Amino acid sequence: MNIKELVRENIRNIESYSSARDEYTETTANMCFLDANENPFTNGLNRYPDPQQKAVKETLSKIKNISEQSILLGNGSDEVLDLIFRAFCEPNKDEIIILPPTYGMYKVLANINAVGIKEVQLTVGFQPKTQTILLAATKESKILFLCSPNNPTGNSFAKKEVEKLLKQFNGIVVIDEAYIDFSKEESWLQRLEEFPNLIITQTLSKAYGLAGIRLGVCYASKEIIQVLNSIKPPYNINKLTQQKALFQLNDIEKVTDQIKKIKSERKRLAMALKKIPFVEKIYDSDANFLLIKVDDANKRYGQLIKNQIVVRNRTNQPLCKNCLRISIGTPKENQVLITVFKRIASN
Ligand SMILES: *Cc1c(COP(=O)(O)O)cnc(C)c1O
Repeated sequence: MNIKELVRENIRNIESYSSARDEYTETTANMCFLDANENPFTNGLNRYPDPQQKAVKETLSKIKNISEQSILLGNGSDEVLDLIFRAFCEPNKDEIIILPPTYGMYKVLANINAVGIKEVQLTVGFQPKTQTILLAATKESKILFLCSPNNPTGNSFAKKEVEKLLKQFNGIVVIDEAYIDFSKEESWLQRLEEFPNLIITQTLSKAYGLAGIRLGVCYASKEIIQVLNSIKPPYNINKLTQQKALFQLNDIEKVTDQIKKIKSERKRLAMALKKIPFVEKIYDSDANFLLIKVDDANKRYGQLIKNQIVVRNRTNQPLCKNCLRISIGTPKENQVLITVFKRIASN
């Protein structure tokens, strides 16, 4: 597959903005920075952040065993995904393929970018219909989004099907691994080099506990990363975010410990909810949430709100009739949820 041919024509040879700090690559000795019209009085944040986020990438590269040139950082996955749209999809011409029920941002970003949307619903077991997807694809189908573990269903896609899609889809395949740290399945990261059309997105918003700093990570071939780099806003990751991310990435033990707790709470919550009469089904989860089917999602959602508990009502999503998506909270929060469910059930 020729990746260059997939890139939008106007992007292929674009001249990117060269920031003052991009041009400066000399020694780190005591330099006198009079190049970027910054306020010279030091307060820790008076200088522009590193446009290539070298320190963060270096750390991620070590943790994930991936070359720094295969990493791009974004202001949340949202920015990463938007860059991917803008690099590969010609507005009013190209389209993407998504597999509902899935993460809502793919559709929103397609609409913003005037990119068409082809939907191929998952099976009732929430797996991709590989043959249908491949048959639906045309030469305008530039990107296929695979969210695995999937939001809101919580399951991972079968490896074999993903592999078939990676090999046979003639465009970019984005595997959104926002929830990978909670999964029993392995990340596709270590197989990045096998598939030139593969882009993997991850985030610090979920397992790493840093939704507030907005840091999304994109892994792909050097060629793809180069293209995305050429169109990203020069200073897209602010200094505070880079500092906080570094700090957290250097304390992986804490993250690992929290993931363990969340997974054990997920199991406990599932067992407790199973005993509630109006809960009809609890779907297996590889994520930090549970999708459950109840008798009447709108009614139960309203009752939870009255009890000051906010969950996500997914009843209007395809294949999700009467389903609620519940994030795993702290043990105390989960206990409150269980108590409220029991109280509602006994009324
Ligand atoms: C939460 C989530 C993200 C994370 O988005 P950020 O912009 O990085 O916070 C990405 N993809 C999916 C499927 C999600 O559920």
